[in-house]
Amino acid sequence: MTERGLLIVLSGPSGVGKGTVRKAIFEGDDHQFEYSVSMTTRKKREGEVEGVDYFFRTREEFEELIKKGEMLEYAEYVGNYYGTPLRYVEDTLNSGKDVFLEIEVQGAMHIKEKCPDAVFIFLTPPSLEELRQRIEGRGTDEPKIIDERMKVAVEEIQMMKNYDYAVINDEVPLAVKRIKDIISSEHYRVERVMKRYEKMIEEM
Ligand code: ADP
Ligand code: 5GP
Repeated sequence: MTERGLLIVLSGPSGVGKGTVRKAIFEGDDHQFEYSVSMTTRKKREGEVEGVDYFFRTREEFEELIKKGEMLEYAEYVGNYYGTPLRYVEDTLNSGKDVFLEIEVQGAMHIKEKCPDAVFIFLTPPSLEELRQRIEGRGTDEPKIIDERMKVAVEEIQMMKNYDYAVINDEVPLAVKRIKDIISSEHYRVERVMKRYEKMIEEM
C-alpha cells in the first residue's frame, strides 16, 4: 500500500512574504512536494495565469463548490473568497506525494480541525516595523488602512501558538531553506515511521 503524503501548510500574517517565499520554493527544482493551486473570486492581476497562480471563479461558482463539499477549506479575505480544492489534495496525498498549501491564517485553522496530522509552518516577520514596511512597500494603502492592517497582523501573529514551526522571513533564500529542511525532517518523525511499522506488524 502506498503511504499517504504529508500535507504542509504555510501561513502567516498578511504582508509577511508568504506568496514571495512560496514562489521562490517552486521556482527551484529541488523540492519534492506538489503545490495545490488555490481558487479565488478576486480579479486576476497582471501577469497571473489561470490554473497556475489561481483558479479564478465567480462568487456564484465558488459558492456552488462550497455547497457541493468540494473545498477542503476556504476563507473570505478582503472581500473575496479564497479556498483549496479538495480533490487535487486528496488524490495527490493518496498517491504518496506531499502537498504544499500557502494560505491565510483562518483557512489554516480550518485545516487544523480537519487534518490534525498536517504540518503547520508559520512565517513571521523579523520585526513588526519590518512588517509595516513590507505592507507599505507593497501597495497604495492609505496610512489609516495600514494601521488597520497592522492591527489584524498583530492578532494573526498571536495565532503562531497553534503552529508546529515558526520560520523567520528575514531573507527569502534563508526562509526557503528553513522550510525545505522542516519538510525533510518531518518524514523522519518517529510517530510517522511508527505508523508504517504498526501496519506491517498488523499484517504479519
Ligand atoms: P503575503 O503573501 O504574505 O501577503 P507578499 O509575498 O505579497 O506577502 O510580500 C509582501 C511584500 O514583502 C512584497 O513587496 C515582497 O516583495 C516583500 N518581501 C517578501 N519577503 C521579503 C523579505 N524576506 N525581505 C524583504 N521584503 C520581502
Ligand atoms: P492574494 O490576493 O494576495 O493572492 O492572496 C491573499 C491572501 O489569500 C494571502 O494571504 C494568501 O496566502 C491567501 N490565500 C491564497 N490561497 C488561499 C486558499 O486557498 N485558502 C485560504 N484560506 N487563503 C488563501
